[in-house]
Amino acid sequence: PAPVITIDGPTASGKGTIASLVADRLGWAVLDSGALYRLTALSVLRSGVNADDVDAVAQLARTLNVTFDGERILLDGEDVAQAIRKEDVGNLASRIAAYQPVREALLQRQRDFRQAPGLVADGRDMGTVVFPDAPLKIFLVANVRARAERRYKQLMEKGFSVKLTDLLEDMQARDARDAGRANAPLVAAADAVTIDSSGLSIDQTVSRVLALWSE
Ligand code: C5P
Repeated sequence: PAPVITIDGPTASGKGTIASLVADRLGWAVLDSGALYRLTALSVLRSGVNADDVDAVAQLARTLNVTFDGERILLDGEDVAQAIRKEDVGNLASRIAAYQPVREALLQRQRDFRQAPGLVADGRDMGTVVFPDAPLKIFLVANVRARAERRYKQLMEKGFSVKLTDLLEDMQARDARDAGRANAPLVAAADAVTIDSSGLSIDQTVSRVLALWSE
């Protein structure tokens, strides 16, 4: 099978940015698995399905009609790349990601992204559950302050107005939830290499991953 580099870690640790830059440098495909949970959350909000109804939410996850097209993410033909980045969608994504049937519904869909010459997969459980045989697994961390500041900049650039303190609180709550869920706790794979990006630039982090790959 084609090689996979998995990049897991907490929210806003820079996984998405690093994953797409590493993929560019290698000429590989990229999987933003968080987008699938966010797309499911957005579908819940739009369809009016009760977010507490596990089976109904899993059914939405199973039947997502989504196309990844470069920067665009088409849900039923509509570009929702911006809409899924909103905090309310992220918070709901984190809630429904705790539903085991939702995780199962999205599992094969994630594996289908594996393709030659390779895939960089970003998420929480890429190295532990989705691609356990990946030849290189990165666990990317950064302290909560650095992550809140990054997310703040990102949202402001996209034209959303948010407060840094709200983001910091949200992020701590999401960390606690992501770390604590019984079925899919956020843990590094036993064979993952941990990189703390708090004091690293994007370029430095990308170089470190590429160096590990060429070792
Ligand atoms: O990475 P991102 O913030 O876009 O992910 C949104 C939410 O989806 C996360 O808070 C996490 O709870 C969930 N998620 C997950 N497993 C993944 C990717 C994301 O549970 N592989």
